[in-house]
Amino acid sequence: MTAKTIDGKAAAAELRKRVAKQVSELRANYDVQPGLAAILVGDDPASQVYIRNKERQTEEVGMASVGRRLPAETSEGALLSIIEELNHDPTVHGILVQLPLPKQIKSEAVISAISAEKDVDGFHPMNVAALSNGKDGLVPCTPMGCTMLLKDQIGDLTGMEALVIGRSNIVGKPMAQLLLAENCTVTIAHSRTRDLDQKCRNADIVVAAVGIPKLVKGDWIKPGATLIDVGINRVSKNDGSTTYRLVGDIDYEEAVQAAGAITPVPGGVGPMTIACLLQNTVAACKRQTILRD
Ligand code: NDP
Repeated sequence: MTAKTIDGKAAAAELRKRVAKQVSELRANYDVQPGLAAILVGDDPASQVYIRNKERQTEEVGMASVGRRLPAETSEGALLSIIEELNHDPTVHGILVQLPLPKQIKSEAVISAISAEKDVDGFHPMNVAALSNGKDGLVPCTPMGCTMLLKDQIGDLTGMEALVIGRSNIVGKPMAQLLLAENCTVTIAHSRTRDLDQKCRNADIVVAAVGIPKLVKGDWIKPGATLIDVGINRVSKNDGSTTYRLVGDIDYEEAVQAAGAITPVPGGVGPMTIACLLQNTVAACKRQTILRD
């Protein structure tokens, strides 16, 4: 059996269409244009690419994009002042600060300073608590995108054995919460987990968010399982050139022989992450404007 490839690019394009429709309805019916402020501190090349993509896609769906570029030596106090200003700006409904931040700035202080209702990355302690308590809040974009792909692929996830590999605050833990909310039986694995291969063989769903190229092998896969590969790893092409290619945390070539469905890297989870950021911004805008009591 060869697994179906889950097309994250197509799913993200569909989601962006739905976001654009919501944006045009908000503009036509309520005279409100959702606005997203993206803050980048420093000049890390990867972060610059991410933030430019986010800004471009924000504009493409008809939202306003407010870019703030700050020098690498920006103090924590200066960044917090800018966040405070954006918290009070009625044209800005979502605020994101591109991570990682320079050493002198504590990311926890920054995340907590963003108004919870504008925290479109879903990292604020109030949104973390909402997810854990099963209440409405803003959900981190990558796990949200993974959940959408799983539901598109499988439908009802109730009763399925789900293995999440990785327990970071931005991917692994919220992913496990979302799968629990979908009535999966969830196992969370991490660097101290024993017998990861056995746990994998038992899983109907595997979400790998580790950062180790091809950690998950083909013979770990339960036949027919659905595999979501969050990992983005740059590896040498081994062709004598200095160029790189991207691979995931799952050995795609091996796993595709056993799984029922699998996300590729690139073109799987990555595109969904930005589309979910746009969806979160529209949702935040609605809550701050038309749904406010
Ligand atoms: P972190 O480094 O924060 O977390 C990695 C997790 O993997 C940790 O919980 C760690 O365990 C666990 N781990 C490490 N080694 C092993 C091992 N041998 N077996 C099992 N678990 C292990 O990474 P992130 O969660 O931020 O990101 C994970 C990957 O996803 C990265 O490749 C990143 O680039 C990618 N990513 C992709 C996104 C997308 O949009 N596609 C978005 C965000 C991330 P422990 O806690 O014990 O240290």
